[in-house]
Amino acid sequence: MKKNPERNLSGGADAVQKEASMLKQKAMIADHFDKLAAVANGELKRPVVYTFVPGNLTELMLSFDALPVYPEINALQSAMRQKSQAFIGEAERRGHSEDVCTYVKCDIGMMKAGNIGPTGQPLPKPDLLLLSYTGCFTFMKWFELLREEYDCPVVMLHVPYQGDGIVTESMRKYVIDQIKGEVIPALEKVSGRKYDEERLRALLARSAAAEDDLVGVLESAKHRPSPIDAYFGGVYYIGPIFTAFRGTEGAVDYYRTLRAEVDARIAAGLGPITPDGQMSEEKYRLVVEGPPNWTNFREFWRMFYEEGAVVVASSYTKVGGVYDLGFRHDPDHPLETLADYCLGCYTNRNLPGRVDMLEKYVREYQADGVLTNSVKSCNSFSAGQLLMQRVLEARTGVPGGFIETDLVDGRYFSGANVKNRIESYLQMIDGRRQAGNPAAPIQPADLIGGGPR
Ligand code: SF4
Repeated sequence: MKKNPERNLSGGADAVQKEASMLKQKAMIADHFDKLAAVANGELKRPVVYTFVPGNLTELMLSFDALPVYPEINALQSAMRQKSQAFIGEAERRGHSEDVCTYVKCDIGMMKAGNIGPTGQPLPKPDLLLLSYTGCFTFMKWFELLREEYDCPVVMLHVPYQGDGIVTESMRKYVIDQIKGEVIPALEKVSGRKYDEERLRALLARSAAAEDDLVGVLESAKHRPSPIDAYFGGVYYIGPIFTAFRGTEGAVDYYRTLRAEVDARIAAGLGPITPDGQMSEEKYRLVVEGPPNWTNFREFWRMFYEEGAVVVASSYTKVGGVYDLGFRHDPDHPLETLADYCLGCYTNRNLPGRVDMLEKYVREYQADGVLTNSVKSCNSFSAGQLLMQRVLEARTGVPGGFIETDLVDGRYFSGANVKNRIESYLQMIDGRRQAGNPAAPIQPADLIGGGPR
């Protein structure tokens, strides 16, 4: 590992110079939290909408000049700043069980402690709770808790689950009808503005441009060496497009800049940049399933890059949009495209659909293995992961690995155990290579269906 004094993902004391994309993202996020604080302090008047990342209607909210707040982003940001444990403790003291999703408890604890956001600035109360229900039942229970706290309207956009792995016309129409009949009127009411379809189209066109560049960045990992880490680095790359910035000029500019930086790394034959500098040798190419741990994010990442393991594709970087499978927001069909986006997001896909996606990644990114990080909090991700792994091993022949952590509850991150498991897993890949058999024969057993491909 070569230390790179010119870049440090932490922004710590030794960070001399950051890449332009990182500075742009930092400025965008700071500006957003400044605006939220200004609303909270009564210095700015803008409608505030609390909503979730998967299936978010960001362009529609922005077309009404609303400021979105994403509770799960606040939770993970709090964890990265080592604030989540206190918030979780606060929620548990108020009766929330240890088994509840820790994003929820972190958010509830933060709210009860004064609703000071991860940047240390106050968050405003919502004018609207907009729940896009995409696959996870916890989303609904979470907003029921918020509804008890805030005196504001609630809209639930019910997105039918892709139980059969397809989106039918009636599912699509059902979502469009709700956007027209419930979401837009609610946004008109809280904003005092009429729905402006031309404004929405302009936002959607910018989304599509940024999505093209994001896909270019994610697919750069098909190169050897991969110029990016598509999991640990990937969570930084998806930040703007999965949250408050999709549809903005800032997001278009950010992704154009990021893609140019990544293209330059490909041209120079460079691997990813890590918090400790340039990764010098790519020894293992992995696909990762499941969300990362946020309380020990750097320590977790280091376990990979110190071993020369780079993540070339991940499911987590698709929770806010599966753009690499071809979806783009379409300005010519504004409400239809919002419906398609909600219906297609990762948490709304059934297990066979998730397996197909991961199998495609293993093949197209020439991965040596699939590693699952099963987080205690999230049933939406964790249910079925062992079965998925077994099917993936059978179909692709690459070995699967399994580790367990949590999202934002540090009590469930055992560094020594996780490191031990990762090292053993990489040794298994080595063992297969030495035996001249990096991919084991495909097994006939296929528990989810479709058979070996
Ligand atoms: S259970 Fe998983 S998908 Fe649902 S809210 Fe928690 S982290 Fe999000």
